[in-house]
Amino acid sequence: MSDFDTIIIGGGVNGMGAAALLAKRGKRVLLLESNEKCGGAIRTEEVTLPGFRHDLFATNLSLFAGGPIMAELKDDLIKNGLEFVPSNKPFCSVFPDGKALGVIQDFAATEANLKRIAPEDIQSWKALSENLGRLAPHILPILGNELPSFKVAKALLKSWRTLGTTEFLSLIRLLLQSTRAFTAENFKARETRALAASWGMHLDYGPDIAGGALFAFLESIGGQMFGMVLGKSGADVIPNALSKVIQQYGGQIRTSTRVSSITSENSQATGVKLENGEVISAKDVIANLNPALIPNLLSREEQSRPEIKEIDKFVPGLSTMMIHLAMDKLPQWTAQEAREYNYVHIGPYIDDMALAYAEAAAGKLPSTPTLVIGQPTLTDPSRAPEGKHILWIQVRVLPHGIDWSKEGERYADHVIDIIESYAPGTKSSILSRAVLTPTDLERFNANLIGGDSLGGSHHISQFFFLRPLPAWSRHRTPLKNLWICGSGTWPGGGVGGASGAIVANSLS
Ligand SMILES: Cc1cc2nc3c(=O)[nH]c(=O)nc-3n(C[C@H](O)[C@H](O)[C@H](O)COP(=O)(O)OP(=O)(O)OC[C@H]3O[C@@H](n4cnc5c(N)ncnc54)[C@H](O)[C@@H]3O)c2cc1C
Repeated sequence: MSDFDTIIIGGGVNGMGAAALLAKRGKRVLLLESNEKCGGAIRTEEVTLPGFRHDLFATNLSLFAGGPIMAELKDDLIKNGLEFVPSNKPFCSVFPDGKALGVIQDFAATEANLKRIAPEDIQSWKALSENLGRLAPHILPILGNELPSFKVAKALLKSWRTLGTTEFLSLIRLLLQSTRAFTAENFKARETRALAASWGMHLDYGPDIAGGALFAFLESIGGQMFGMVLGKSGADVIPNALSKVIQQYGGQIRTSTRVSSITSENSQATGVKLENGEVISAKDVIANLNPALIPNLLSREEQSRPEIKEIDKFVPGLSTMMIHLAMDKLPQWTAQEAREYNYVHIGPYIDDMALAYAEAAAGKLPSTPTLVIGQPTLTDPSRAPEGKHILWIQVRVLPHGIDWSKEGERYADHVIDIIESYAPGTKSSILSRAVLTPTDLERFNANLIGGDSLGGSHHISQFFFLRPLPAWSRHRTPLKNLWICGSGTWPGGGVGGASGAIVANSLS
């Protein structure tokens, strides 16, 4: 008999979610994490000064709050300390002429913002808001289920019948559009276009890359419908609560434990070998790993199989840098209303984002990078000592192949200079800073190859039913009983945990 029913390699949100669901359903589960704590790309640390709690990576927990793990384990997680803090002013964009355009979790309030900055887009915004409500029942079954699958094929057929051919094909068209095409079609003002297109940049979609429209649509209008949620005192509420739930249901967790290989017989996974030489057997192995890392864990013989080698074609997205600031006070944005929003985006406009994306793709440091500036202490003051603040700054998108030991601090200075130009006085309010370059990101978490925050590019050739690659889709691998979950698998990056839940459902 095997030592465990299921071994899970990697304690990211998907691996932990799968472990918690399987443990609750009576499986003998072992979760192995190489870091000293679980969470992967969800981690909160005092990296600047004592008392300043920074979400090193993910901070927006909306996907988890609306995801399948939360749906099934809500009571268990809350009992074990999961607490969210809602923000009803989720995001805005600021512009060099001192304007800001923000989305509020209230249609009338968002409409009032549009009236000031882009009155010509009110009708379109309203139409898109109605569209999201109408299309959500047709989009959500695609996003939350195994792909390709009979279930989703049936759901799509039903959508076709309900919506009619023209509207169904319009939905497919939306899934394939770039953010530039989508925003040009729907909005007249360049501010509204930038507001929506900046969400494509979160998922590695420069304005001209096919497939970005879906995120621009879902996140912009979704922000108005649902706001955004943060973790109380830090995003690590998720891994902390999941760890307790796994153990409460008898699952075992071993941290500081790196898996050095996946054992197999006749192309069937049989367990794992640890760095210390220990071998542990299991009926099934789930790798919560970037699929590109898996061949190195297999035997030479397995590595040479063409289906295994195919994963070499899976490409990472562009890199990301994080800058964490401990602040005396929040930025005094020239556009005063920006002082109230959880995220402030600086593109500023679509053409700037397109240029930043093209520069990064061509191996150059963008002169005007696209910035996401999180102001979490607005909604959750518990993350800093009384009267003080933190800033979470994400630099979307950066090139591969940079020597960050030379460029990191200098480029971070450039980023702070840009913020200073929109919010004079910011620099002098900084008490301390910590810069996490793309190299640091990969050092923290091997899944973030080259500092790609999303575990593999999300471009449509490796998304939907093609994620990560045809021979590896449906969360299976060319090895029997070796499953994969995580952001390199469908439905991709983010803290939603859906791929972990999909695999857990396949195994129970
Ligand atoms: C900077 C940044 C900001 C982000 N912001 C957001 C956000 O605000 N909202 C959002 O929804 N998403 C965000 N994301 C994306 C999101 O955080 C990730 O997509 C998600 O957390 C990935 O989860 P995962 O299950 O794929 O595993 P990961 O988080 O990648 O975890 C995998 C784990 O496997 C471990 N591991 C690797 N190799 C081994 C081995 N050989 N043996 C044992 N363990 C191993 C790693 O140490 C790691 O802990 C962000 C990501 C980054 C990097």
